[in-house]
Amino acid sequence: LVSRKWKVGRTAIDLGDGVIIGDGSLSIMAGPCSIENEKQVELTIQHLKANGVRMMRGGVFKPRSSPYAFRGLGIPGLKMWYEQARAAGIKIISEVMQVSQIAEMYDYVDVFQVGARNTQNFNLLDELGKVDKAVMIKRGISGTIEELLYSAEYVFSAGNEKLMLCERGIRTYEKASRNTMDINAIPILKEKTHLPIIADPSHGIGIRDFVEPVALAAVVAGADGLIYETHEKPEEAASDGQQTLNFEESENLIRKIRKVMLAL
Ligand code: PEP
Ligand code: MN
Repeated sequence: LVSRKWKVGRTAIDLGDGVIIGDGSLSIMAGPCSIENEKQVELTIQHLKANGVRMMRGGVFKPRSSPYAFRGLGIPGLKMWYEQARAAGIKIISEVMQVSQIAEMYDYVDVFQVGARNTQNFNLLDELGKVDKAVMIKRGISGTIEELLYSAEYVFSAGNEKLMLCERGIRTYEKASRNTMDINAIPILKEKTHLPIIADPSHGIGIRDFVEPVALAAVVAGADGLIYETHEKPEEAASDGQQTLNFEESENLIRKIRKVMLAL
């Protein structure tokens, strides 16, 4: 069902208030890896608004390799974020890690993010298929493109067609970067599916100085949107600071993205 053989044209996802993903414009979703506190949310929203960005990312349930690392503020943090985002007209995308969190998060998110560690959590996908809110599925850490498409099939076939996919880098033998951003996946996915394709250069390369070139490469390769990490002080971020842009770097990236879009 997610194949282009089954649908003429491409899927566009309308989140309301003029925010549409997959309509030919480039959707930018930016924000911290983890939601940390009220001030951080306020500063991030200011930064996004100043740059015309309509969607904010941020985790309140964090899948950390170590159980001792910061694991997120949970629902109270999401509510705090939602209050500010709604007042500012900013849409929210946030990771859902398990079925019970769908109902808990439902009123406070615009897009449910399925993280790379849950791409093949088929029960979670089944349940997200019954929801009338958008879903973004990230490619699995060692997942193939075909596996990602089958994961999409779970959600779509259960009835939720507000679905997008995300290339976020895969684990390879290469150790010079955190992950290997599979730029190839972008044109391949665009050829195979009518769903919008988002690129995550932050997790894709994992190195702050190289997020910009990878982001621009993804735009040129045909991505419908970018999701990346930004923080007022990346060196103090509760998670993923090493791959997080400060606001100045984020602003420069946004400016370059817009130039590239005009040139395409
Ligand atoms: C994230 O977006 O912060 C995240 C945990 O990403 P991924 O699931 O791609 O590792
Ligand atoms: Mn992260």
